[in-house]
Amino acid sequence: VITQEIVKQLEIIVGSHNTSVDEAILHVYGFDVSDVSGTPDIVVRPNSVDQVSGIVKACARYKVPVIPRGGGSGAAGGAVAPTGGVVVDLTRMNKIMDLDLENLQVTVQAGAIIEDLNKFLKPHKFFYPVIPGSDKMATMGGVVANDASGMRAFKYGTAKDYLLGATFVMADGSVVPFGCKALKNVAGLDLLRLFSGSEGTLGIMADFRVKILPLPPSRGVLVAYFDTLETTGKAVIGTYQAGVIPSAIEIMEKSALEVVQKYRPQINVKIAEAMLLFELEGNVDFVKYQADKIHHVLDVLGVKETQFSADPVEADKLWSARSLVGAATSVLKEGYNRVYEGEDICVPLTEMPRTLVKMRELREKFGLGCVIFGHISIGSLHPAITIRKSNEMDWKAMKEMADEIHKWALQVGGTVTGEHGIGVARKDYMHLMYPEAYEVMKKIKHALDPDNIMNPGKIF
Ligand SMILES: Cc1cc2nc3c(=O)[nH]c(=O)nc-3n(C[C@H](O)[C@H](O)[C@H](O)COP(=O)(O)OP(=O)(O)OC[C@H]3O[C@@H](n4cnc5c(N)ncnc54)[C@H](O)[C@@H]3O)c2cc1C
Repeated sequence: VITQEIVKQLEIIVGSHNTSVDEAILHVYGFDVSDVSGTPDIVVRPNSVDQVSGIVKACARYKVPVIPRGGGSGAAGGAVAPTGGVVVDLTRMNKIMDLDLENLQVTVQAGAIIEDLNKFLKPHKFFYPVIPGSDKMATMGGVVANDASGMRAFKYGTAKDYLLGATFVMADGSVVPFGCKALKNVAGLDLLRLFSGSEGTLGIMADFRVKILPLPPSRGVLVAYFDTLETTGKAVIGTYQAGVIPSAIEIMEKSALEVVQKYRPQINVKIAEAMLLFELEGNVDFVKYQADKIHHVLDVLGVKETQFSADPVEADKLWSARSLVGAATSVLKEGYNRVYEGEDICVPLTEMPRTLVKMRELREKFGLGCVIFGHISIGSLHPAITIRKSNEMDWKAMKEMADEIHKWALQVGGTVTGEHGIGVARKDYMHLMYPEAYEVMKKIKHALDPDNIMNPGKIF
């Protein structure tokens, strides 16, 4: 229970204008994009490590829940407050603190938005390669806390691969700086890897030192239309076996092509069983060389219909169908809207064709909408289920369908979440996925947060 005394203490730390107890505001903080909700008792907006530390110390004293929050774009209920408590909104801490180009690194506060960081780096011809589809909203803190990635994860890795250092505010409010300026460092246990993907359950990350890379000089996009789902998987594996690592290979199954065609007909996307989009980087000759290699792989597989461009405007046009699929999901079935459940599985590459077929079967079985697309380069799939949100039977069917999707991913050796995280939404699968390791995780959680005040009810 948040007493007036706690509220007063928090107001002293961040200033009363940086706290909210207004019901309407608290309501807004009760959501992310998942269907999990939970209204906090108070929202505080710190602007320094000291303030974050002060907030957590106050919460530790009274044993009240602390929920770190960045852009609120999470899809697992991680930043909401199902048991009430103090939401720490980090978006005021959005400064880029230090750019060190010679050492290929930048230091940023937790609330910096990924797109803003990349806009800042672009004139220097550098970029931060962890670019989720939500990069206009997602903050560095949220991205690291979820170990986020996106379309380019196979080539560039995930958030944890770029961490050189961070400042942690632990569950007792103590401030722990970690890491160094060197690009390689193996001193002791790697707390950066422990905290990345911890979803705010071990402490608050206040700032980060991250590695950055030079921007590739140019880009090309190759699009291929497939008559069978099975061939898509073969094309991906064949591409790697031909020695080509595209920066992205995305899949749009028929349902995804249909919704984009309906949503934005002027794009003229073709309807096929599936489409693959390959993004290729390097100088123009290298982009063309990679495209030739992929064309050869596709020829052998009998895939005839392709389009390729290394021209920036044309390449963007070829890519535009993929950019629109998220926005278009709701046009698949009239009156049906997207819910974020069962939407983030990742399976071994060889299981991708069977998984695509299975998703179609489940869509038939449950009679709901389901737009299928994903980052096939790495086996990541987003079967976006759509339902009539006012219909209770649809909710029930959706939960069953999501459960079957998750169990399928586990059955074929994959995971229930490739990038969106466990949060509240996928908590029930932790013990199925890791019967032994989940116990180890619980011990670590207990050692670092014995009173369970850090984001309770998430993962654990
Ligand atoms: C349209 C759309 C596209 C998306 N595409 C992708 C994608 O391609 N790849 C991908 O990985 N995800 C994607 N996501 C999911 C989501 O955007 C990412 O997980 C993102 O990293 C969340 O960042 P955020 O700042 O919004 O975090 P929030 O939603 O605010 O929080 C997410 C989690 O991080 C914790 N947290 C936030 N800040 C901190 C901090 N400073 N210290 C400790 N814990 C913290 C929160 O407690 C919570 O558990 C997408 C979401 C949407 C809506």
